[in-house]
Amino acid sequence: MSERKPLMAANWKMHKNRAETREFVEAFIGLEPPLDQVEVVICPPFTSLEAAVSTCEGSGIQVAAQNMHQAQSGAFTGEVSAAMLSDLGVHAVVLGHSERRELFGESDESLSEKVPAALEAGLTPILCVGETEAERSGGKTDEVLANQVRADLANVSGGDLAQIVIAYEPIWAIGTGQTATPEQAQEACGLIRALLAGRSDEGADALRILYGGSMKPENAAELVSLEDVDGGLVGGASLDPEDFAAIASSAASA
Ligand code: PEP
Repeated sequence: MSERKPLMAANWKMHKNRAETREFVEAFIGLEPPLDQVEVVICPPFTSLEAAVSTCEGSGIQVAAQNMHQAQSGAFTGEVSAAMLSDLGVHAVVLGHSERRELFGESDESLSEKVPAALEAGLTPILCVGETEAERSGGKTDEVLANQVRADLANVSGGDLAQIVIAYEPIWAIGTGQTATPEQAQEACGLIRALLAGRSDEGADALRILYGGSMKPENAAELVSLEDVDGGLVGGASLDPEDFAAIASSAASA
């Protein structure tokens, strides 16, 4: 089995302007998170990306956008391309977050184009998948995850799987304080890896799968110690540098 370096990503959603971004990064670095043992990615809003890139420079902390358009350029008012993010010095991009799927009509079809477009521009796609509460209680979790993974990665070769990060985010756990149990998280992440092994054993083994949904300093260590969980995508708790540093440290020691 390949050694997968843990990854902790901070999804700030629509929070933090440029000054707040710099303040966070400086405070976070001052807390000396073990950046040699855990990869840390912060995902600020578009307007704070450049401030994040310049403040993180030389620290090892990576910066991700929260969305992008699949086209290289064109008449798409309000959108930005993967190449534009690369040009800013951004390293990664969150794609298919459930808030974008639910509130902004993000479709599996567009994601199947966004993932290869991100890879082509040298960005690491952090693809989010996850089931609703009704789908889980209706026994549909496996089917929903399988459909999302198949559709969203339809245009990615087995050889490229290792360059992708998948975040398993049960929608009922996002921002609710209700975290998935370790059994639920392992079962879902194990299923995702097994599905991808059908395309490339090596790629599936190397690809990192994150858990997201009310991760906090108190529960991160247990979640990231699970066999198929390689880190976390953290919303609310990532807005505070101390909490996020504690979460990153627990990933390093897990
Ligand atoms: C998220 O938005 O990706 C997320 C996991 O949020 P929270 O940690 O607040 O549940």
